[in-house]
Amino acid sequence: MERRGFLGAAAATAALPAQVLHGQASARRVTVVGGGFAGASCARALKKADPRIAVTLVEQNAVFHACPMSNAVIAGLREMYRQRFTYAALRADGVALAPLAATAIDPRARSVALSDGTRLGYDRLVLAPGIDIRWDALPGYDEAAAQQMPHAWQAGEQTLLLRRQLQAMQDGALVVISAPAGPYRCPPGPYERASLIAHYLKAHKPRSKVIVLDAKDKFPKQQLFLSAWSELYPGLIEWVPLSRGGGVVSVEPATRTLVTDFDRYRAAVANVIAPQKAGRIAEAAGVADRSGWCPIDPVTFESRLQPNIHVIGDAAITGAMPKSAFGANTEAKSCALAVAALLAGREPASPRLINACYSLVAPDYGISMAGIYRPEGGEFAEVAESAAAGAADSPGAARPLEASNAEAAFRRRASRPATSRRSPCPIRSPGKGATLLAGVRSSPIARPGCACSAIAARFRRSRRKATSRRICGVRARAGPRHSFACASSIRCA
Ligand SMILES: Cc1cc2nc3c(=O)[nH]c(=O)nc-3n(C[C@H](O)[C@H](O)[C@H](O)COP(=O)(O)OP(=O)(O)OC[C@H]3O[C@@H](n4cnc5c(N)ncnc54)[C@H](O)[C@@H]3O)c2cc1C
Repeated sequence: MERRGFLGAAAATAALPAQVLHGQASARRVTVVGGGFAGASCARALKKADPRIAVTLVEQNAVFHACPMSNAVIAGLREMYRQRFTYAALRADGVALAPLAATAIDPRARSVALSDGTRLGYDRLVLAPGIDIRWDALPGYDEAAAQQMPHAWQAGEQTLLLRRQLQAMQDGALVVISAPAGPYRCPPGPYERASLIAHYLKAHKPRSKVIVLDAKDKFPKQQLFLSAWSELYPGLIEWVPLSRGGGVVSVEPATRTLVTDFDRYRAAVANVIAPQKAGRIAEAAGVADRSGWCPIDPVTFESRLQPNIHVIGDAAITGAMPKSAFGANTEAKSCALAVAALLAGREPASPRLINACYSLVAPDYGISMAGIYRPEGGEFAEVAESAAAGAADSPGAARPLEASNAEAAFRRRASRPATSRRSPCPIRSPGKGATLLAGVRSSPIARPGCACSAIAARFRRSRRKATSRRICGVRARAGPRHSFACASSIRCA
């Protein structure tokens, strides 16, 4: 069904006259490279911000494979078809699709070279290419090694490979995950993966265990994960931090061995989450610095290295804002408004971004964190007191709810990202219309355990201190109810 939807769109795109693909002479032209969480959301939001802008989305794959929830696919809790999305809906929103890879960018001529040999002009370019693995960073780990020791950090074939390896291994055999140092895509992702693999082992291979070799001494939601592990998977997960010899210095794919400074771990299944960098087109465009990531202006998302090129999503350096699908989506919407403003000769407003991050520890056990970020010192900094861990002090009943929130958030981000300033809270619980409201007289009604509800609780506490205080850029007013999460996730007037 999804495939048919996209192919229809692709065929229609292929039939577009050249001036559409290459930009109409009269309209302002914005080209977006990368149709993931950041790029697809940005293309749609641009069209919504100003329908006169000619927006073209360049995406190399016909079907998008989403990473969020892919750890559940690896653990056999979910089927891969639920991770697949097509681009048909974007076409209906007036975005032209170029189903090709961008191969080079000429910032002076303002053009993008495509894999069919054509070129696409732009007034402004948005790059959202996600990540690539740094194949030169870990001795022994190259593209061939990834077939033996999958990273599964870009969803699709790698996800299925890791799943098949887990299914094929003997009971009693060892699973080893290596977690990289930051920055990398989805900071809590390796620990969610360890949890769900442990869930699989507990049910199917109870004599096996998971070892996490970590290049760090701490990780996000650490206390939540560790206490959940001792509750659900005692003795099944061993976490080895950097200071206890967790840093992997090389790998030997032929024997699936991971080598640290102190030990050698021979695994039946080795999941090597290797160091990463911005998708390689960023380097070709000259917007990546020596770190491999792309420095940007946090107000406009414009590259600090090349004018008229904006970078969003995992590829960008965003300071305290984590690399997540949720964050990519809010960056995309802010960037779209900034680009539309710049094209219209207006000054872009300073954005506030929200990130809510859910992790599954078991199918009915979710944990979450949320925070709000604003430009400060040339990067995104977390707004004081905005960080909240949804489940830290929540009753046990909140955990199944957080697990269902994770699924709901995923569907909203992946299928049809909201672009309206007044749209419902993107992380509200499904079912009861629990939109998070933060008007002075209205009490927040997000359900307990929702990441939003933790932010709202802080909001309530601060409301007691000063009724007119600006919270995360949203001025609380008596009277009309305010969709707190959505308003702050886009831009606050
Ligand atoms: C296991 C795992 C679990 C995760 N769980 C969560 C979660 O629960 N919640 C959450 O918020 N985040 C989660 N994430 C993180 C999330 O997947 C990423 O942060 C998000 O995908 C980033 O979006 P993006 O648009 O920057 O990159 P992507 O989503 O990777 O999109 C990049 C797109 O660009 C395209 N592209 C690249 N180069 C070119 C080119 N040259 N020409 C044309 N197209 C190109 C690619 O084909 C791709 O479609 C998870 C990640 C992993 C690995």
